[in-house]
Amino acid sequence: MEGSAVTEFDHPTFRLAVAQYDQAAELMDLHPNLRERLKAPQRALTVSLPVRMDNGSVKVFMGYRVQHDSARGPSKGGLRYHPEVNLGEVAALAMWMTWKTAIAGLPYGGAKGGIKVSPSALSQGELERLTRRYAAEIFPIIGPNKDIPAPDIGTNAQVMAWLMDTYSEQVGFAVPGVVTGKPLAIGGSAGREEATGRGVVNVTLEALKHLKIELSKTTVAIQGMGNVGSHTARIISEAGAKIIAISDQNGGLYNSHGLNIPDILKRYQEEKQSLNSMHTLGDPLTNEELLTTDCTVLIPAAVAEQITQHNARNIRCRILVEAANGPTTLEADSLLADRDIFIIPDILANSGGVIVSYFEWVQDVQRFFWKEADIHERLKEIIVSAFQRTLDYAQGKKTTMRMAALMNGIDRVAQAHQLRGLYP
Ligand code: NAD
Repeated sequence: MEGSAVTEFDHPTFRLAVAQYDQAAELMDLHPNLRERLKAPQRALTVSLPVRMDNGSVKVFMGYRVQHDSARGPSKGGLRYHPEVNLGEVAALAMWMTWKTAIAGLPYGGAKGGIKVSPSALSQGELERLTRRYAAEIFPIIGPNKDIPAPDIGTNAQVMAWLMDTYSEQVGFAVPGVVTGKPLAIGGSAGREEATGRGVVNVTLEALKHLKIELSKTTVAIQGMGNVGSHTARIISEAGAKIIAISDQNGGLYNSHGLNIPDILKRYQEEKQSLNSMHTLGDPLTNEELLTTDCTVLIPAAVAEQITQHNARNIRCRILVEAANGPTTLEADSLLADRDIFIIPDILANSGGVIVSYFEWVQDVQRFFWKEADIHERLKEIIVSAFQRTLDYAQGKKTTMRMAALMNGIDRVAQAHQLRGLYP
């Protein structure tokens, strides 16, 4: 990346995002001027966040907000709290958000935020002070018409409530539309919490239909039991698929006859039992074993770069649904391309979250709220048509689902730039 405007963001995940973008831009013969322009984020803010800890000391955390592109509307993207967050990773995730919102046809650009912190190591009070200070520092660049954060790894509805409150206190009135993924009581949307998992299931069912695989004969392995993984597990098992393996960062559980998901989720979420300790429900397995489990559908729903050149040859699924962002490295992607594995890329597979976030924002701006059944139905309509469009494009251009999704998204963003022109 030497000599390029993007060296400041150098990081393995950013390199992955740029390499994917370059491949697609090459295939679609994107004009060099625009090609260069879309590589670097439009705006990136780094903030230091002094926080008074419970013991009276002051600790300083690093925070970021990166807005990759806003040609099609306000930028939109999650906020991640994780000890490995850094500017390059956030920039990569922001770029993926630009393509994701475009593929789904939402009137948004892409952004992402993050704080380098292990949230479980903080008390509730420390977490609140950290979040409020972050909100105050990024205040000038966020807003319902500018940039709208949402939850991601390590953040939740409560964190969104603190962001919304801090922003609202600064302007002097309640502004629910400044964040999505909020609690219902302050303008959140029905169905938002499970939206990413529900969207993952919607596209998985479409892929099964396309490949003519019966749901009753479908086995599923899911990595990650957080927001996305747990809702995906619940909804796909309710739909009739058999889940044979699940995991979190501490390991997982396997049962070839099918795991009892309601029982497992109750013990895991309410009783805080670890997955690999539930001996009566299955056998313990490692994350590496989960990823190479023989199954119909493999769903990585945890962190990036899980499928690599080291394990790609051993992946034994028919369909790979990327619920996490960036779970497959570039090297692994080309190894998988030689195999008969149907990949639903992240920017399509996990777009259910931002689609329902869009519904939440529309409801907030209009002060008019929809029923949960309407949310589910409209989510399905948008994500299934994005899936179909991508599939048609992939078949028409004889390319992969990943390239088709990227080309489709990039093309919509490119059109917006061409129409708007270059300022000044
Ligand atoms: P979360 O924090 O709720 O859950 C993350 C899960 O991953 C946890 O179960 C954790 O134990 C597990 N995990 C962490 N490191 C792991 C490792 N090394 N190996 C195996 N498991 C590990 O996060 P989430 O909101 O469920 O997000 C999961 C993924 O989905 C992320 O890549 C995120 O960017 C993506 N995503 C989330 C949303 C959303 O609406 N929450 C939307 C789109 C994409």
